[in-house]
Amino acid sequence: MVRLFNTLTRQVDAFTPLNPPSVGLYTCGPTVYNYVHLGNLRTYLFEDVLRRVLEAGGFAVKHVMNITDVGHLTSDADTGEDKVESQARKEHKDAYELARFYTQAFVHDLDALNIQRPHVMVKATSTIDLQIDLIKRLEQNGFAYLASDGVYFDTSRFPNYGRLGGQRKQDKKAGARVAVNPQKRNQNDFALWKFSKPADKRQMEWPSPWGAGFPGWHIECSAMSMHELGEQFDVHTGGVDHIPIHHENEIAQSEAATGKHPFVKYWLHGEFLVLPEKRMGKSEGNFVTLSELPKRAIHPLAFRYLVLQTHYRSKLTFSWQALEAAHQGLLNLWLTIDTQPATPKIGCAEFEQRFRDSLDNDLDTPQALAIMHEMLKSDYPWSAKLQSLEVFDRVLGIGLGNQAVRQHFPPLDDSQSAAIESLVQEREVARQQKKWDRADELRQQINQALAPFHRALQDTPTGPAIKPRFRH
Ligand code: AMP
Ligand code: ZN
Repeated sequence: MVRLFNTLTRQVDAFTPLNPPSVGLYTCGPTVYNYVHLGNLRTYLFEDVLRRVLEAGGFAVKHVMNITDVGHLTSDADTGEDKVESQARKEHKDAYELARFYTQAFVHDLDALNIQRPHVMVKATSTIDLQIDLIKRLEQNGFAYLASDGVYFDTSRFPNYGRLGGQRKQDKKAGARVAVNPQKRNQNDFALWKFSKPADKRQMEWPSPWGAGFPGWHIECSAMSMHELGEQFDVHTGGVDHIPIHHENEIAQSEAATGKHPFVKYWLHGEFLVLPEKRMGKSEGNFVTLSELPKRAIHPLAFRYLVLQTHYRSKLTFSWQALEAAHQGLLNLWLTIDTQPATPKIGCAEFEQRFRDSLDNDLDTPQALAIMHEMLKSDYPWSAKLQSLEVFDRVLGIGLGNQAVRQHFPPLDDSQSAAIESLVQEREVARQQKKWDRADELRQQINQALAPFHRALQDTPTGPAIKPRFRH
């Protein structure tokens, strides 16, 4: 039985989907005006683990994700600029081209981290009709009002507003910390549609019954999720920052349009990846992207391994040191597995059961990893361990399955091994004769030969040894 912490009920609930074994899963996607950073990727990793755990539990998951290529404003008060438009202007680029570029980069990062691609990935700009239809429904139901700069959702008409974040309405008084938008009737109201300003010509704009413009950010997720998964569905996720505004607004819009409650049965939120001083964010200008890792000879999957070591509902403080340690740990795992000759047969049933139980318990990945390491140290034969690792990796996704491991460390055949061995011997002789230049030359030659196998020569207290090393 899978149990998950539900932000809506604030407790760990047994997971019972609306139409088992089907599960509708909606995960909020990136705003594609820049590269995603490791913080964003932590959230996508948590969502990937969630999906894999549900799949391992026998559920048939339909996973939908939006790509925000328009409408996400630089301010939560709905007064700022559209992030994609403003970045395109800064870079003198076509806004669609810019969004396409960063979407591709995003998908590249997903692949590098073994994050399974969503079954459906939809751009906001390709669902404008759906969004306009939803705004029309809200207007018909009396939840939308027209202001001079757009159409807004009237939160005072929605009694449950604030339930997800647990704030009562009076806690969110106008002017407290947030900039006030004079167009709004109530502080929490939010834009459903924004009008293009006559002065600055937008690249992305569409006609609508209210005037030419573009959709507010939140409406796309309601429109797409309900279109793909039905007006009520099982699971909706994102980072914790989405709880008080984005997801609150999605619930308000969706339930106000359909009259059905609840819009989503389980809301799950991943905690932030933070830097020692503060959060990592695009707007903080202190973000690290995945492409930094290979530059430091760190394998991208080391980040996945690092993330798995912390529970998704705890903050994770990023440091290069921790990431490098995860990288070494992963390389050692890979090499250990790779040097085992056994063919997988029957796994270690007891460990597999405990592994499943820990993940079913609100995705306890640190516990699952501990069980994996315990199994590796156990007396089970390697053939059984390899089989279990393959099962574990269906959720962990860190290249522990036999096939994947072979790709990381392709084995040397006998003649290659013999050639390396004789070079190593020759170098030992040169060292004994204190011919240091020759020894250095031979070391370089050995490492060149080993590079395609992601290994390198290292001098250890017990003599020269071939060790894992991963360079892109
Ligand atoms: P955005 O592109 O800003 O909509 O963010 C994409 C996803 O990343 C959302 O689910 C956010 O909640 C999440 N996110 C943003 N910053 C962080 C962070 N520092 N750590 C973890 N998740 C984050
Ligand atoms: Zn969303």
